[in-house]
Amino acid sequence: MGTATLSIDLGALIANWRALDTRSTTETAAVVKADAYGLGADRVGRALARAGARTFFVAAAEEGAALRRAMGPGPVINVFSGHMRGDTDMIGDMALTPMTNSFDQLVRHIEALPGHPFGIQLDTGMNRLGMEASEWAAVRDIALQQNPTVIMSHLACADEPDHTMNAQQLTTFHEMTEGINAPRSLANTGGILMGADYHFDLTRPGIGLYGGLPFADGTPVASLSVPVIQCRDLDEGETVGYGNAFTATRPTRIATIAAGYADGVIRAMGHDAQLYADDIACPIAGRISMDMIGVDITDLDDPNPKALDLLGPRQGIDTLAEAAGTIGYEILTSLGARYNRRYVGG
Ligand SMILES: *Cc1c(COP(=O)(O)O)cnc(C)c1O
Repeated sequence: MGTATLSIDLGALIANWRALDTRSTTETAAVVKADAYGLGADRVGRALARAGARTFFVAAAEEGAALRRAMGPGPVINVFSGHMRGDTDMIGDMALTPMTNSFDQLVRHIEALPGHPFGIQLDTGMNRLGMEASEWAAVRDIALQQNPTVIMSHLACADEPDHTMNAQQLTTFHEMTEGINAPRSLANTGGILMGADYHFDLTRPGIGLYGGLPFADGTPVASLSVPVIQCRDLDEGETVGYGNAFTATRPTRIATIAAGYADGVIRAMGHDAQLYADDIACPIAGRISMDMIGVDITDLDDPNPKALDLLGPRQGIDTLAEAAGTIGYEILTSLGARYNRRYVGG
């Protein structure tokens, strides 16, 4: 097989949702935007629905429509980008719930789809999406008369529990929603871990479902095994790959594996990342190419390994993220379309 195999452990996914649900004092939704952080929103959505999740969040109406086709009627599908121009038919036909984030979106929604469910997104300081206090004060009465299904905001610093921004946003959210009966939602994964004050009526974990930090107690969901295309022996002084970036300092055996930066193996991680043959680390030798990577397998007993692991028990998404100077979210969402996807468990 010429392409790498991305295994997605639906059992681990469900275990993570249940663990976060146990920590949430209220209903726990699931954020499955960006194709469930690269792992496949159709399979992930159906597995979580079987486990008991009733509410899902996506970024765009198009994602919501695809999810509705995969999951059928029943689950609530909320759309973070709200009701954008051109989305009306999709929102109506596919029974999506837009999280309206401005006066204009709210009016567009109520006029175009009277009586159709919607939520409200408030900005409590992140300055990304949602109505600010003054705008909210002006539309609040009109909005509440239409019974929004949820009033939500998003935390900017929830992965740093000690950051003063968290308490500040919590206070602002309380101020903006005081005396309101509609269900409220503030917490992403990090927000759940900060405790019950942040949970309100609905929590919205994403990364924690997929085994990423800040949910340190989570179970890894993705593993990636990359086939070896060819192995060769180098004399001391020979070089590997573009720019001669690796020079053998001893007789060296190199495996060329079938994945590269076109598959989301971020080129910048260079030789800070390793491949694994079971428990044995094999350093990357030279630059990561578009479709291939050279790996130093000199220290392996087996001179011809069939495949090496990039993601597995020894190296998870956050370790790789550190090597690439990024976050687990980006590692997951970069995982390539070329991989052969295999769903296990669940
Ligand atoms: C992505 C996102 C989430 C989920 O965040 P995680 O940090 O992945 O748990 C929750 N709410 C909003 C508004 C988001 O954009």
